Formats: sequence, C-alpha cells, structure tokens
Amino acid sequence: MSDAGRPAASTCREALGAILRVQEFIAAGVPVQRVLQEICAEAVDILGADAAAIVTTADGVGNRAFAWRTDEGRELIDAASPASLWAIGQSASRGELDVAAPVSIRKEAGQASELIAIGTPLHAEGQALGGMFLLSASMPPDRSDVDVLKALAGHAGIALVDVKSARRVHEAMHDAITGLPGESLFHDRVEHALAAAERRGVSTGLLSIDLDVFSAVNDRVGHEAAEGVLRDVAKALTAVGRAADSAARLGGDRFGVLLEDADRNGALAGADRVAEAIAEIVELPQAGGGLGASIGVSVARPGECSREGLLQRAELAMREVKKSGRGGLRLYHPDMGGPRIDPAALTLALKESLEHGDMRVHYQPLVSLLTEEIVGVEALARWQHPEYGMLPPDEFISGAETNGLILPLGREILEAAAADVARWRREIESAARMTLSVNISAPQLKGGRLTGEIARALDATGLPAEALTLEVSESLFIGDDPSVGDRLAELRDLGAKLAIDDYGTGCSSLGYIQEYPFDILKIDRRFVRGLSENRDGAPLVQSMLTLAEQLGMRVIAEGIENAIELAQLKAMRCEIGQGFYFARPVPADRLAELLADPSQMLSAA
Ligand code: C2E
Ligand code: CA
Ligand code: CA
Repeated sequence: MSDAGRPAASTCREALGAILRVQEFIAAGVPVQRVLQEICAEAVDILGADAAAIVTTADGVGNRAFAWRTDEGRELIDAASPASLWAIGQSASRGELDVAAPVSIRKEAGQASELIAIGTPLHAEGQALGGMFLLSASMPPDRSDVDVLKALAGHAGIALVDVKSARRVHEAMHDAITGLPGESLFHDRVEHALAAAERRGVSTGLLSIDLDVFSAVNDRVGHEAAEGVLRDVAKALTAVGRAADSAARLGGDRFGVLLEDADRNGALAGADRVAEAIAEIVELPQAGGGLGASIGVSVARPGECSREGLLQRAELAMREVKKSGRGGLRLYHPDMGGPRIDPAALTLALKESLEHGDMRVHYQPLVSLLTEEIVGVEALARWQHPEYGMLPPDEFISGAETNGLILPLGREILEAAAADVARWRREIESAARMTLSVNISAPQLKGGRLTGEIARALDATGLPAEALTLEVSESLFIGDDPSVGDRLAELRDLGAKLAIDDYGTGCSSLGYIQEYPFDILKIDRRFVRGLSENRDGAPLVQSMLTLAEQLGMRVIAEGIENAIELAQLKAMRCEIGQGFYFARPVPADRLAELLADPSQMLSAA
C-alpha cells in the first residue's frame, strides 16, 4: 500500500497530520458519521488503498462509513453487497486482518471479486466496536500500514464514545487566549493544503500578520486588556478566512491566515479584508490611537513551494512592511531576498558548509553615545555560500533553528567571535575593555549544553565572562518555558551579561522582563526609526528608557541610521547605540582597523 520506496517517516508525518485533522473534526463537534468518513478518506489517502471502510456495532450511530481513492474503489463500494462488507468488518474486528489477506466481495449483481484486505479492530474504552479495513486490488503487506491504520482506528473509537477526550486534545493544540490553532497545527494545515492544492492544480495563499507596537499597548493598557485585543483580532481573522479554522496564533502578536484555493488577487483581497477588520476593532485611546498590522502575503502555485518556503516568503514580505514602519500589506517578491536556497535543500547545504568551514562572523560596533567610542561589537553570522556568495542570516538562521543546526552553528560563531575579541582586547590598546555580544536562539537556550559550551569557549580564548553578552530575542519569552529561566540564571551565574533583543517587537509585558535577570535592553530599530519619521516616536522610546532605568538595565538602541535619530537618543540620554550610521557589520580585519582608528567609523557607514 505504501508507494514503493516511500520512506516510512513521511508516512508517519502524514499520519500524524491526518490524526490532528481528525481530532479537529471530533473536537469541533462534527457528527460522528462525518468523522468516520473523514478517517476513511485519510486512510485511503495516506496508505494508497483503493477504498476504506469502517463497520461499527455501536448503538445510535450510522454503522458504516466508506471512502475511496480510485474509480475502482468507488465501483467496488457501490456494487458490494452490505453483507459482504459487514463480514469483512467482522473479520477485522476479530483481528484476522492484522496481516493482509485475500477476501472476496459479493456484488449485488451476483458476481464476486477477489481483493486484498488489511484491517484492525475498533475499540473504545476496552469495548470492541467493530472493524476498520482497507481494500485494494493488489496490496503488498506492510507492517507500518497496519500501525497507521490502528492509529486512525483508535481515533474512530474516540469519535464514537469519548468526544470529551478529543476536546482535551483540541485544547492542547490551541492557543489558550484566542482559541485559535497554535503553530504546529497551523503548519500541519498549510502542508495539507499545499498537498491538496497540488493535486487539484490550484494556488494557495498565506498571510503573515504582525500587530504593530503591540507591546506598547500591553504596557499601557495592561495585560488583560491586551489579551482582549488578541481575542478581538482572532475573531476578525476567523471571520475573514473562508474556512472557519484557517487562522492561527503563531506566538506573541503574530498571526497567520491560510487561504486555500487563492491566487494572487484572491490572497491580496484576503489581506485587504484582514487589514480592514483589524483597523476596525482596535481603537484604544490609551495606546495612542488604533492598532495597525503589518501583513505579508505569499502565494504558491501548485507544487511550487514547500510549507517552509510559503511561510518564509509571507514572513519576509511582512518584514518588508515592518521596515516601512507604519503597517500595511505587501505581496512577496523575489527582490525581498527570500531564501535563494530551497528550504528543503537547506539542511544538507548548511551541514556541508559547516563541515567546510564556510560560516563567517561579521562584527557591528556598539558605540557609546556619550563619547562615540567603540565599546563592544555584536557578532552576526554570515554564510559564505559556494554558489550565492555571502548570505545574510535571514536566509538561514530560522531554517537552522528548525533543523537543529543552530546548535553547531551557534557554537562556531561563539568560538570564533570570542577568539577575535579576546585578541583585540590584548592587542589594541583602546579595545582593552571592549565587549562581545552574541545572539542566542531558542533551541540553544532550551538544550542542555549551552552553559558548558560558553564556559569552554571563554576558557579557551581567555575572554572574561563579564565581557560577554548573550542576546536573547524578546519573542522567546512568549511560550513561558520554565527551562528558559533556569538556563538564563545559569548563564548569569557564569558571569555573562544578558540582553533582551528586539525589545518592543514581541508581546512581553513588564512582568516578563522583571522576572528574568536581564542586564541590557535593546530597543528595536523600528522604534529608533520612529524618532526621525514621526512625531510620536520619541515618547515611546522615552518610556522604554525610563522602564530600563527603573529596572536597573542598560540600554542599547539598535539601527541608528541618521543624525536625527542619534541626536534624539543622545538628548534622551540613551547610553549605547548601534547602526548603519556608525558602521555596518564588517569582517574581522576591517573591524580591527576601526578599533585602531575610530575616526574611520562614520565614513564606513
Ligand atoms: P539582530 O540580532 O537584531 O541583529 C541586528 C541586525 O540589524 C543585523 O542584521 C544588522 O545588520 C542590522 N542592522 C544594524 N544596524 C542597522 C541599521 O542601522 N539599519 C538597518 N536596516 N539594519 C541594521 P543581520 O546581520 O542581517 O542579522 C539579522 C538577524 O539574524 C539578527 O538580528 C539575529 O536575530 C540573527 N542572527 C545573526 N547572527 C546570528 C547568530 O550567530 N546566531 C543567532 N541565533 N542569530 C543570529
Ligand atoms: Ca542581536
Ligand atoms: Ca535586534
């Protein structure tokens, strides 16, 4: 039944997806008969049989469900006598079809046809309820098929007797605040939609939505009101999508909407409706006006791109909107950089590059706004790709986070950067006290090795722990994983400093920040840009500076691009800044030149 050579892992993934969808159906209170139908349909789809059937003896429910994939399957079920299907169901319920076996089906017209069946009993809470089976004209026996079938049959059992337990599963897969599907369920849906779209030859649209300045709303109107806002947004998104369940909360103030069977115009129209709906619901005078959204739109023609690709493109388009600083929507365009490397090929390419030593570290100066001296550097990963040249982190970090390669990659960046900075501290007089900041991703923080690796890197290079700052993105705190706090405390004990990165882009409230031992707050570029672009920018930045001062944190302003932003930050007594106005990220040898002669700095921008 599995296509020859198809790896079992992909069948497993598909099965998991199928089970999640079935759970959704059950939890949504879809009538049992339809749930059983859905289970059969998933089974023929995944296992490639001609037809599937469930025959139950449970009271009060339709006692059969069928599905088919091929014309032969349809004919077969249409023509089969109920008695012969019933008999096969009984064999399955007695466990006689755990191994594929020949069966004969009598047709209503009188003739019989010989087929192969594989099946499994249907149980629920210890009770035998009937059987589920697959039929095919030819069907090689395959153990994993029975396992998948059993898993699906297990859910048929749940649908039949215990709707409540499926509701519990539903709760685990959904965001508690909004009731929308969470990230893993959404990813699964996107994957399923793309596969279905490929079969049907239609396009699929995706919206990546980020609420603008949500954290400011959070801080000003309080946590509860902010949750109310999230719920309102969820309602608006649900109303906009064509299927009631196509919207998801992807963490913090980020949402996604899947638009099945949508081409470019359809997806843009969907994005328009989302923008309007959000603009309508959120009028918060306390937050200084309405709350906007940045919406990235991506569209995949049938078979054109993988789930990761579609999601990444929508996100890239969303970030383009964010760069403009004032909300709106954009359709993904290859000029936005996009992953030149297909996400499916990324793992292998990245692995090879790590082995070949193709990772590079670039350094961007952190500058004292008081003295305009370089007080430290942020290490930023670059990939010297054999074909595409120097790739920025946007093209590979999130992929590396997904496939786990961020662990070796992060270690390499840390080791190389610690060695460079320790050397500069020794060799360049004015750099004797300079610091190093490195970015740490969630998987690094959640794994158990980080603290040891950092201790070893410091040891090997002689860089003192106080000279190292670990930058952790604000968005990491939304999940509220308890191990994150433990790990941060460990790193702090080591003597390293902790910085909260991209402050203002996630939805962390004051509470979150107070809970963890941060030393430094990095104000996101979006807010710095606001200082030169609109009148309301300054109070927002000022409130962040005040907050940091109250919490005893130092501040680094990110992304200073011009003299106006610099002057305003200086006037507000912001201590440290970083941005193209001073210098772009540069390779180690160039950074050494800047350290030796900082007067080259502004001209380097
Ligand atoms: P980030 O940590 O927020 O790093 C700052 C980013 O802002 C850098 O982008 C930097 O080039 C850019 N930037 C600095 N000043 C300006 C400015 O004035 N204007 C503009 N428009 N941009 C400015 P980059 O190097 O592309 O890195 C992007 C992100 O990739 C980083 O954002 C960080 O989240 C991630 N990243 C980079 N290296 C690493 C790494 O080694 N490990 C991990 N986990 N993440 C990394
Ligand atoms: Ca950073
Ligand atoms: Ca940042």
